[in-house]
Amino acid sequence: SDSHFPVPISPSQFDYSLHYPQIFPSSDQADGSRKIQFADIGCGFGGLLISLSTLFPETLMIGMELRDKVTEYVKERILSLRVANPGQYQNVSVVRTNSMKYIPNYFEKAQLTKMFFLFPDPHFKEKNHRRRVISPFLLDEYAYVLKAELEADPVVKLLSSATEEGQKVARNGGQTFQAVFRRIVPSDQT
Ligand code: SAM
Repeated sequence: SDSHFPVPISPSQFDYSLHYPQIFPSSDQADGSRKIQFADIGCGFGGLLISLSTLFPETLMIGMELRDKVTEYVKERILSLRVANPGQYQNVSVVRTNSMKYIPNYFEKAQLTKMFFLFPDPHFKEKNHRRRVISPFLLDEYAYVLKAELEADPVVKLLSSATEEGQKVARNGGQTFQAVFRRIVPSDQT
């Protein structure tokens, strides 16, 4: 049952000072501008997060893991790394949660720049497919919390604001519609 782990009722209720105490020393969360950007879904023992923590020292990241004992292990691992390496590993944390149910409780729309799904349990048997972390109905939810590539790309804004035609449309109060394409390279042409 999920009843014995707490879940924030909304992303604004997530306690950053609990997870990143050096970065958010008080519980008032004054610096609401800095938010988690990477999520490792089903992080297991946390190896990827530990590597990412030093590779992206300015980025807040979190692992989400269903198993209680594994989550506790990752917590301890992070705490001892923090003690052994003062000032490092302050940007990484873990929560015990069911990512298939609670992702929107943790992250706002377009908050995340990266989500990792490394070796998610495949659940080969058809009767267990509903337990798959990667499934069509969850893709919508993942798309919701991920920052759109287009929003992050400064060129995309220019498509409607920098061209003379685009400016004319804006002056006239019109609308522009963007279509940006990315070529999918067929697997035999990599
Ligand atoms: N990503 C890690 C790695 O590559 O070493 C762990 C891979 S392990 C095969 C899959 C992990 O996903 C397990 O630790 C499992 O407990 C976790 N998991 C499965 N379903 C989950 C869910 N709904 N929410 C959170 N974690 C889940």
